[in-house]
Amino acid sequence: MGNCLTCGQKAGRGKDLCDNCVSLARERKAREVAAEQARLQEEQARHQAVQEEQARQAEVQRQQQYERYIAERLAGLRTLHSRGITPYLYRVLLMDAQSQMNDQKVGSPPDTSELQEFGWLGWEAVGVIPTTYGQGLENTDITAGWTKSWGAGIGGLVVGAYVLMRLPITAEALRQNESEIVALLREEFTG
Ligand SMILES: [Zn+2]
Repeated sequence: MGNCLTCGQKAGRGKDLCDNCVSLARERKAREVAAEQARLQEEQARHQAVQEEQARQAEVQRQQQYERYIAERLAGLRTLHSRGITPYLYRVLLMDAQSQMNDQKVGSPPDTSELQEFGWLGWEAVGVIPTTYGQGLENTDITAGWTKSWGAGIGGLVVGAYVLMRLPITAEALRQNESEIVALLREEFTG
């Protein structure tokens, strides 16, 4: 019969620790593991709280920048009005167009529904920038190991257009629809 190395009581044959000390050691180990887990969780919670606070501050800052931006922009518009100048807001719409290539139609016919939506709101189309399609053509030489060589290039097929839209911001419009105009200015704010 050996004696327990910790408490000196009988430990049983071939054992260094008595049953009581073994279970005490297990409990201690379990408490240590639980304490370490709690510490990690607390650390994680603290880290998360710091990140949330940083995000909140960034949002507050962005909101302040946004308000400053809108205030400056509105002041700028009013200054222009006081000088008799009408400023404009611009947007770009993408419209499809159809092209003909080797008797095949490329692209889709124009759809004016979005343009019309802008039109109902007082926007007008003031310019068009065509978007084009091009392709390089290759010749494949089957007598020379299928090598490819430059054949020709086609390009400039109009497949669509960017339609430049503008909305005049008159002094009267700003007086009557300030909140709508602010909503449009918001889209210009990149923060
Ligand atoms: Zn013991």
